[in-house]
Amino acid sequence: MIEKIINGKNDIENLYCEIYENKSARLLFLFYFYHRKYKTDDIVDKIIELEDYHYLHFLIRIIDEKYYDKLLTSILNCNDAKTIYYVAFDTKKLNMKHLNLLLDKLIQLNDKKYLLLFINYFLFVRKYNDLDIKTKINSVLKSYNLNIITLKEEDISKIMVEYVDISSIEDANFSSNCYKDRKIIPDMIVCHICNNYEKAIKTFYDPHSEVSAHFVIARDGRVKQIVSLDDCAWANGTSVNDTSNAYYKFSTNDIIRNRKINANYYTFSIEHESFDGSLTDIQYKNSLEIIKKIIKYMKDKYNYDFIIDTDHLIGHNNVNPIVKPSCPGEYFPLVKMISDLKRTKI
Ligand SMILES: [Zn+2]
Repeated sequence: MIEKIINGKNDIENLYCEIYENKSARLLFLFYFYHRKYKTDDIVDKIIELEDYHYLHFLIRIIDEKYYDKLLTSILNCNDAKTIYYVAFDTKKLNMKHLNLLLDKLIQLNDKKYLLLFINYFLFVRKYNDLDIKTKINSVLKSYNLNIITLKEEDISKIMVEYVDISSIEDANFSSNCYKDRKIIPDMIVCHICNNYEKAIKTFYDPHSEVSAHFVIARDGRVKQIVSLDDCAWANGTSVNDTSNAYYKFSTNDIIRNRKINANYYTFSIEHESFDGSLTDIQYKNSLEIIKKIIKYMKDKYNYDFIIDTDHLIGHNNVNPIVKPSCPGEYFPLVKMISDLKRTKI
């Protein structure tokens, strides 16, 4: 069925009927993803009816604004702070009315982690100046003896770290979240963003999280290596199983679509602390240094000359556009990186 959706250029009506009968929010979402605008009203109503919040969230990211009211009303019923925050984060054209509704829900759910992420995102990334939201946020900040007038981005970051116990981070050792062998010569570097440097490191060392990256780069330039370059980090895996949202054929990169093995086996991954892909000067500089280090490693270990282009230095969204369309974000300087690297002697 997934193959039919991806390649379904003919007999779209029959394919649509088959999927509609199937009552699967996932298939309906994927159908819309690949055949935008076809029977949009029907698809929206059906996914709402199925109450599958995961795909409601996926759908609202890619759909026309006129459906936001309908979809948000449904999503707010899920009572899950993580989903509510990610709807605010991923859905770029939400207006103040919608953001107010999402904030009200987060305050009501009182899940500090996602509430603080929302506040950070709202004030420092989108730089909104809405009185209603600021009044509500100020009442939350009072519990931290902070207020918006004097608030700095670092203040929110510091409070967020309070929710992360970093004492157990093993500084000297690499994380066990990795595959010890590479199945083929690695030839791609994948860029990512993460909300918080310390939190990302903590997560990447936690064996229960089952995720990692080779490097994390903080906004102030700090760099932490989590996984050896000899090993495969668990950052952007693809699956050969078409029931997975990380199915390799969803990739927008031809090389990945043609390789049937997990993309983690042939990639290196770099996380950047950022909400929208914009990097600080020092973060950009250090990211280039890390990329150069990886390129040199490929040459030394595999005698492989890294190809500096948009097929080999890529974003997580190229590997998995379904789950991670906003990683590394719309402002990530991939094009600038490629042109700077081409001009640099490595
Ligand atoms: Zn990512």
